Amino acid sequence: MNATEISEYSPDVIVVGAGNAALCAALSARAEGARVLMLEAASFEERGGNSRFTGGAFRFAFNGVDDLMQVCPSMRDDDLSNVDFGTYTEAQFFDDMFELTEYRTDPELCEILVRNSLETAKWVAGHGVKLQPGLGRQAYQVDGKFKFWGGLALHIWGGGEELLKALYAAADRAGIAIAYSTPAESLIRKDGRVCGIVAAHHGQRIEIPAGAVVLACGGFESNPEMRARYLGVGWDMAKVRGTRFNMGAGLRMALEAGAQPHGNWSGCHAVAWDVNAPPFGDLSVGDQFQKHNYPYGILVNARGDRYIDEGRNFHSHTYARYGGEILKQPGMFAWQIFDSKVSHLLRSEYRIPRVTKAQSDTLEGLAEQLDGVDPKSFLETVRAFNAACRTDIPFDPNVRDGRHTDGLAIDKTNWANPLDTPPYHAYHVTTGITFTFGGLKVSNAGQVENQYGQPMPGLYAAGEMVGGLFFNNYASGTGLMSGATFGRLAGYGAAQEARA
Ligand SMILES: Cc1cc2nc3c(=O)[nH]c(=O)nc-3n(C[C@H](O)[C@H](O)[C@H](O)COP(=O)(O)OP(=O)(O)OC[C@H]3O[C@@H](n4cnc5c(N)ncnc54)[C@H](O)[C@@H]3O)c2cc1C
Repeated sequence: MNATEISEYSPDVIVVGAGNAALCAALSARAEGARVLMLEAASFEERGGNSRFTGGAFRFAFNGVDDLMQVCPSMRDDDLSNVDFGTYTEAQFFDDMFELTEYRTDPELCEILVRNSLETAKWVAGHGVKLQPGLGRQAYQVDGKFKFWGGLALHIWGGGEELLKALYAAADRAGIAIAYSTPAESLIRKDGRVCGIVAAHHGQRIEIPAGAVVLACGGFESNPEMRARYLGVGWDMAKVRGTRFNMGAGLRMALEAGAQPHGNWSGCHAVAWDVNAPPFGDLSVGDQFQKHNYPYGILVNARGDRYIDEGRNFHSHTYARYGGEILKQPGMFAWQIFDSKVSHLLRSEYRIPRVTKAQSDTLEGLAEQLDGVDPKSFLETVRAFNAACRTDIPFDPNVRDGRHTDGLAIDKTNWANPLDTPPYHAYHVTTGITFTFGGLKVSNAGQVENQYGQPMPGLYAAGEMVGGLFFNNYASGTGLMSGATFGRLAGYGAAQEARA
């Protein structure tokens, strides 16, 4: 679309952004009969936001295989005799959200997320998104049978890349227009109502009137100035795992219009990320610079010290918080250390060509290769750790096995294996920020509220822009589910309001 076509499109609903939340909002508004225009800051080639970088983990509640088959009908033809999916009830989903956010999650938003999750998964699948069992990522083989843990039974087939392909195809079929290289700059307001967007198309300023606007253009994770301002010292230097376009523009324009900030503005999702990864995400590698299997080894910093309980819980309960702990270490790096007993448990991300890795048949040899680490202190740490492991308790990666250490300054709570079986291997990581937790206050209808708790006529928000769900931590696979759930809600509300 060129600037004239965009400014003359006359949409009922403008959706800002073109990631998962925005596409779900656009599809939902279109299903209500609205004429929809999406504005995307990125070019066609770089479209898709953080959603495109995802591995496709997708969290929803289910009560057994029958529910899963409704989301993934092809499973009917698969041989599932060696798979135990278990259940992941709404109660378990609530428990995870409460535990991980230390009971801070906004109860009303959390209720919307959890109670709608299965229906949303079916709705997304109904738009051509394919899912598959997350074998190998969220299940290990025990006695020849795959046993799931942690509630992520199905993943999106092909990850973010395929998710986006399917959603763009659905948007195309529905007749939704998308203007690329067209960042939204500000909201148009008249008589207290949001009634359009000012955007720039290849630098040319355009005004686009509309009945309602859905903001779904991400958080401020790509913006070093805002990271330093809200997250704190050092965060400007974190690597960004995904898109370079989530500069906080949507949050800024909504706050300027009087929207209410909500949630954990000093918090974010950040993980262990290869120290040599580029400053922003690289679509040819996707999420594979991440290194999530630290619960089966130890983490050491430049002093050669362990600095955290690696085995506190499954990685899906700790990874989003532990990434930020690396930033607090001297030099902002850590090394993950494993021995060959657990090599088979490490995910594919440990075997990519662009991995920063050291390996040796002796611990002394490994110590010499750990860039930036005090070797003497490292060897002392390993000796003390090995001596403290309760090897009388059996190791089991499928449950929190309670195989812990005793008597260390920082004990390891589960999966404590002595490092005693060569070859030893180590991975050099720093902090990779995924997305920011602070956002806008939205009502149960996805409508943005002003500073006094009143709905702002004509303004809706979805995805990373919704504040209040996540605090300090996060349950993996919830970002895509939240984007789809609140996107659907916001699109529906915006279409109704535009029609009215
Ligand atoms: C490497 C990685 C792996 C991940 N893995 C998973 C996973 O497996 N499961 C999961 O649930 N979550 C995962 N996440 C988190 C997930 O990506 C996000 O929670 C979710 O995709 C956010 O969706 P969104 O639509 O809100 O934002 P985005 O997908 O980031 O979309 C925002 C869009 O807005 C556009 N935009 C920004 N500013 C403007 C503007 N001013 N005007 C117009 N457009 C603008 C951006 O270009 C972008 O396209 C992962 C994230 C990363 C980075």
